[in-house]
Order: sequence, then structure tokens, then C-alpha cells
Amino acid sequence: MSGVELLEAYGSVVDGEHRVGGDSWFTTYDPGTGEALARVHRGGEREVDMAVRSAYAAWHAWKTMPGVERGRIMLKVSAALLENAEGLARIESLDNGKPLRGAMQDIAVAARYFEYYAGLADKLQGETIPIGDQHHSYTRLEPYGVTGHVVPWNAAMQQAARSVAPALAAGNTAVIKPAEDTSLACVHFALIAVEAGLPAGVMNVVTGLGAEAGAALVRHRDVRRITFTGSVPTGQEVMRQAAANLSPVTLELGGKSPNIVFEDADLDVAAAGSAMAINVNAGQVCAAGSRLLAHRSIHDELVERLVEIDRKVRLGHGIEDPDMGPITTAAQFAKVKDYLELGVSEGARVAVGGDVPSDPDLRAGQFILPTIFTGVDNGMRIAQEEIFGPVLCVIPFDTEEEAVRIANDTKYGLTAGIWTNDLGRAHRVAARLDAGQVSVNDYFAGGIQAPFGGFKESGFGREKGVEAIYHYVQTKTVSMKIG
Ligand code: NAD
Repeated sequence: MSGVELLEAYGSVVDGEHRVGGDSWFTTYDPGTGEALARVHRGGEREVDMAVRSAYAAWHAWKTMPGVERGRIMLKVSAALLENAEGLARIESLDNGKPLRGAMQDIAVAARYFEYYAGLADKLQGETIPIGDQHHSYTRLEPYGVTGHVVPWNAAMQQAARSVAPALAAGNTAVIKPAEDTSLACVHFALIAVEAGLPAGVMNVVTGLGAEAGAALVRHRDVRRITFTGSVPTGQEVMRQAAANLSPVTLELGGKSPNIVFEDADLDVAAAGSAMAINVNAGQVCAAGSRLLAHRSIHDELVERLVEIDRKVRLGHGIEDPDMGPITTAAQFAKVKDYLELGVSEGARVAVGGDVPSDPDLRAGQFILPTIFTGVDNGMRIAQEEIFGPVLCVIPFDTEEEAVRIANDTKYGLTAGIWTNDLGRAHRVAARLDAGQVSVNDYFAGGIQAPFGGFKESGFGREKGVEAIYHYVQTKTVSMKIG
């Protein structure tokens, strides 16, 4: 298999071909230096229509192929992603800004999604229904057809593979619209998949802007199921647009996840885990533990340890594999800086960070120092709104009851963390939190096998695990008179 190299121009992948014609382009930048990286074709309705037609044409053969064969092809895609991991990770790191090892992990996770769902491709089965001895009644689980996947910029390969793999395993075909700021890796992903043996048209990619290519994909009449990962307002718009065709949607949206440290926790472990929960990918993680709820008796000690950890964080260009890379998009960089100012004006104290780095080598990039706000009240905007940067809000509490109340006092409900050595408390609090997934004495616990998704305004539907594949099939009941 040939290595993956950064190209000068990127466009849609339709029918297995990389299409770089056309005269409407935008530029994608390296967020670590501000330099232009590549040209990306600004696809719209026309490209989406071509991609959907191609996926529709490929669908019949793909869905009627025995599940075991679909699975085997998906395993080849998984292996090809791993073979190309270094080249793909390099491109993703340049485009997104994330440290190289984070990008390598994204590729490994994408490969793992294909591996996991490959194993389920021949295990989707219906049931027989006992409606009486005069009839034979059974169900079939059938794919929808063409599925649309709209992906955000924080972990493009991972997020794309997360929903595409179960969709393909279940016999659907897919069209992906990557985020405009990080389209490059997804284009290579589609080309690698075809080279590995995925039939042309089964997985197409359309590059372009959200309001153009994204909206056209969601509105397309032949897209029968949509998975959207991104912000709440765009998710709401996607749902409105999908209503026109009554296309079902899975929405994976934002979060403001509480990470609760009780007084009996192992503070060293809790501090390390809590720092990782907000600093990984420079805080650009939907599930980031962005609100740290600290029991008042250990609050100061915990903050001290966190400050110490943050002071040692090495910022740098993703390719140099630092601890933390830049903020991926210029708009997001401006937004995080605004929140740093807002925190101060709301009366929170900056325990560490709170600014861009003074290092002249980092001035050209979109870097933010890991930041901790203390003295935060849960009613402040910095505690209620998703910042999507390395900015931690620390909120003290006195009782378990109060911790649960503060944790749930948000419109979001994606994830939560609990740090305690009291088993009863761990399960009691886990049961009471409004969150799709709860980690105890860890953060981001739960792998590809464990369902993932939101409560409340963090969305609905589940990705990962066996549960996700059932989002990509519809039940058909067949009943026959036999008496
Ligand atoms: P965004 O909503 O701005 O964009 C997401 C995607 O939607 C992009 O591909 C964009 O081009 C596209 N889009 C924009 N307008 C559209 C429209 N009108 N119709 C169709 N598509 C459109 O989100 P973002 O800023 O790229 O990503 C950050 C957000 O994503 C954060 O809120 C984060 O929490 C969330 N996120 C959630 C998860 C999860 O699994 N729950 C994972 C990662 C990110």
C-alpha cells in the first residue's frame, strides 16, 4: 500500500475517485503556524447529489452481499488504516493541530470501529413472533439505504468512522461531510478504503462548507438516515431540515460535563485524571470534564495539584508531539479568548493560565495556556456554556446532595466523572447524574464496546457498542398464513 502524502488540493471522493476539478475553493490552515496547508474544494448541492447517487447505486450490491463478506471487507479497511496510520496521523496533526500521538490514536480508534462493527455484520438477526398457529410471522432487520454523516473538526477520522462503520456493517452506504477546517484525513480515509477493497460508492466524501454541502446532504431526499456530530444550534437546524424528508437523526452534541471529586478520593489520581479530562486535545472534546466539582475540604489541595500539572504542560506544534497543541479553528480560538475575558469579568479567579502563551515561537499559532478558574459559581456563563478549550471551572460543594444538584444544573448531559473510594456513593451518584456515560475513578472510561451519547441537550441516539448498529436498520415484519 502506498504511503499517504499531503496533497496540494483536496476534493470530494465519489465512486472511488478523488475529484479535484471545479473553480470554487477555500484554504485550510495549519493552526500551529497560521500557514496555508492545502486547497479544499467547496462542494455544494451538485457534488452532494453526485455522491448520494453514487452511494445509492452502490447500495443494492452492498446490502445483498452476505454480512460475513461485508465484514471481511471492513476488516481489510481497518488493516489498511493501520498500515497508513503514520501518514494519516501526520496530515491530521497538521490540519487539526493535535499532537501527533493524539492523531495516531484517532487513526487507531477509526480502525478499531471498522474492526468491531465488521464482527457484527453477520449477526443482525430478526425474530419469529408467535401470533398463532395459523400464521408464521418473523422480522427482518433491513438497512435504510444511503446514510449521511456530518462530522465536526475536533477528531475527524474517529468521528467519521464511529458512525460510518456500523452503518456499513448493517448494509447501508454512506456519504460523509467532514468539517471544512479538517477535511483532509477523511478524503484520504475514503481513498484508502477503496484501495483496500471497499466497493466504489459505498463510502463517499463531499468536502465543503456546513451551510452548503452539509445542508445539501441533510436535505437530500435519498439520504434516509442522518448522523450529526457537532454543536447544539447546528444539530437543531439539522433536525429541522431532516424533518422535511422524515429522515431519522442521531445527534451527538456538546457538553459541559461535571467531574466530581469527593473528599475520600485519592487526590493524586484524581488530580491527574481531572487535568487529562480537560487538557486532552486542548479541551476540544465534547465529553471534556470542564466543570470540576471539588469537595470544599480538599478544594485548595486539589487546585494546587492541578496548577502544578498545568504549569508543566508543554505547548507546541502538533507535529513536534507536545503535551498540548493549538486550538484548531480561528473562530474557536477567538471564542476561547473571549471566554477567558468573560470569566474574569464574571468574578472568577485565574489560578493558572488565562492567556495566550508569551513564548515568541508560539505567537503565530492559535495557542491557549491551560487555564483554571476558581471561585466559579455554577450560574456563571463560563460554567454553563461549552467553551471547547483547555479551560477548567472549579466549583466547591459541601454535600453529596449539593454535588448532584450542581452537576445536573446544566442544559447538557453528555458525560460525568466521579472520584471516590466509597462504593455505595459511587453507584448512588452515578444513578442520579444526568449523563449518557459516567466514569468512576477515571475519566473517558469506556471503549468502543460501550454505548456513548447524550442526555438532555447533548443529543440522542447512541454511538459505539452493539446498540449503535440498531440505529442503522429498520424492522420489517413478515406474516404469512400457513393454516
Ligand atoms: P458545528 O456544529 O459548527 O459543525 C459540525 C459540522 O456540521 C461541520 O461539518 C459543519 O460543516 C456542519 N454544518 C454546519 N452547518 C450546517 C448545516 N446548516 N447543515 C448541515 N451541516 C452543517 O460544530 P463544530 O464547531 O465543528 O464542532 C464542535 C461541536 O461539536 C462542539 O459543540 C462539540 O461538543 C461537538 N462534538 C460533539 C461530539 C459528541 O460525540 N457528542 C463529538 C465531537 C464534537
